[in-house]
Order: sequence, then C-alpha cells, then structure tokens
Amino acid sequence: MAPLSEGRAAVYEEPLGPPGVRVQTRPRTAAARGDVAIAIRAASINHLDLWMAHGAQKVTPPRVIAADGAGVVETSGDPRWKPGDEVVVYPVVCDWVCAECQAGENVKCPHFGVIGEHSEGTACELFHVDARNVFPKPVALSWEEAAAFPLTFLTAWRMLTTRARLQRGEKVLVVGAGAGVAVAAIKIAKHLGATVFATSRSESKRQRAREIGADEVFDSAEFGKAVRAAGGVDVVFEHVGPATLGESLRSVKQGGRIVFCGSTSGVKAEIPMFRLFWGQLDLLGSTMGNASEFRAVLDAMDEGMRPVVDSTYPLSEVEDALKRLDAAEQFGKVVLSIS
Ligand SMILES: [Zn+2]
Repeated sequence: MAPLSEGRAAVYEEPLGPPGVRVQTRPRTAAARGDVAIAIRAASINHLDLWMAHGAQKVTPPRVIAADGAGVVETSGDPRWKPGDEVVVYPVVCDWVCAECQAGENVKCPHFGVIGEHSEGTACELFHVDARNVFPKPVALSWEEAAAFPLTFLTAWRMLTTRARLQRGEKVLVVGAGAGVAVAAIKIAKHLGATVFATSRSESKRQRAREIGADEVFDSAEFGKAVRAAGGVDVVFEHVGPATLGESLRSVKQGGRIVFCGSTSGVKAEIPMFRLFWGQLDLLGSTMGNASEFRAVLDAMDEGMRPVVDSTYPLSEVEDALKRLDAAEQFGKVVLSIS
C-alpha cells in the first residue's frame, strides 16, 4: 500500500511557506499486510519540503512532509520485521514489481518518487510503509543521526559512486558546502579516500566544511580560478546549477565529470560548449538512488561514516525548522524529534 502517516503529523496545508505546514492529529491503525508501521523517533527535512510549503512542487495539499525517518517497529504485516526492531526508511517511492525494480533499478521505476512528495511523509508519530522500504538502523547512530542521513547520503552516494565513478586518490570539488546533500558528499568522498575541496559564500560554513574533513575550502566568488590554481579536480559535485556551473566547468580537469542532483539557483544554464568537448567532460544527472545503494550507505555508516546534524526541533516547532532551511543558515541536516 502507499505510505500512510498517522498520529500527530506535520501537514502541508497551504502554500504559505513555513507557516503553511501545521501539526494535525490523524487516527492510528495497525500495519496492513506487506507493510510495517514504524513509531517514528526522528524525521528530517529537506529543501524539497520547503519548496512544497512554498507551493513550488506539483503537490495538492494536505500532505504530510518529509522523506527521512527512523524509529521502532510498532506493528508489522511482514514476517521480516517484528515490534521493537529499530529501523530506517529507504526514502524512495516505487512499485517494487516492474522490470526495472526487479533489476534493482528503483530510480528508473515508472512509479518512482520521493516519500513526502509523491506519498505521505515521515514527519509523523506512526508511519506505515512497504516492508521493502524498511532497513535496519545503523546501531552506532543516534535517532537524530539515523533520521539525518537517508535522502542526502543516498543521493550523494549514487552521484559520487555509480554516476561519477569517484576513485580513491582523486580530487572532488563540492560546491555550496552548507546544504545537506553537500555535507553528505564531503563525508562520502572522504570515506572513499578522495581529496575534497569545498566552496561556500560563508566563512563559518567554510570553517565547518574543514572541520568535517574538507582538505581545502574556497569562497564561492569565482572559485574556478582558485581551484584551477590548486591543480583542478576530477569530479565536481553540483546541486546549485546556473549560479555555479561556469565556475564548476573551469574547475574540472580534462576528462573530468560534473554530476548534478539539482539546480537550486534556477532551471536554465548557459554552457560554454568548447569546455565540454575540448575538456572531454561528462555532465551527469542523478536523482536519489537504488535500494542497493542505500544498503551501501548503511554499510559505510557501520564502517564509521557519520551524518552531520545541524539542529533538532520538536515536531510542534516544524515551522521554525522550515524557517531555518529557508534562511539557508544550516550546515548539515535539520531534524524533527518525535517520540
Ligand atoms: Zn518499479
């Protein structure tokens, strides 16, 4: 069945920005056959939730927000899970039965979507989801950390490994280092043994990027020149788009790859074509990731990789949590604590 959000829940009701998301209470039910009902301990929000709150996504309210959730199984309609199991949610909507899903390519499913956008979301007390979306929580992570990583680490993992084929010893540039997905990229690239450069407009975010492992940091203004002077990079990790693409193209070495998961600064960009063909460059698009890639992220967490929690708000203060994202003040993930 499609995901269901029950109990107290953060519901997008009107396209007013953060004030349009309000806490409502819905009745609770037991898990249907094939589903697991999870008592959510923590959820986390993404830019997607903010865009939805501003009415920028094709979503008809009401819709419970958030893709990321971690919690304890309350009831299970699948023998693989039992009450008390500690779990995290794979944040993808798919049908699990089409040829692509059967081949492990969930991202190519005709019914592909994101939990909390194309279905009800995790910002609730009791979340029902297909048992195939349920994975064991990495034991070393706190509830806040377990809710902080799924969407961003899944996205960044696929971008850097499957798509950009980042190798140990290569250099990667992560632009816009405060965003959740960029913080995930820094952590993953370090875990994979790459050298990491990062950019931010904010001195404090550049400092934070260094603290979590970035080897060199650059101001966002005309970073291409500085990165080139530092030898250039094999891979650029992009999510900003038009505002940074020109500098990203300048930063990448011949034969390099630029991988995108989004375009927060606009929908259209100009590309100096000669840089593409003269540079033998690959421009790569990517969205979310497959269940196998989620499993790989969980393994990396077991090996010591950690997400970065920016701040934690109780569910009742979801408006303030969204405002923090809206102000672009965060470094890492904004988490909702639910218990
Ligand atoms: Zn499918």
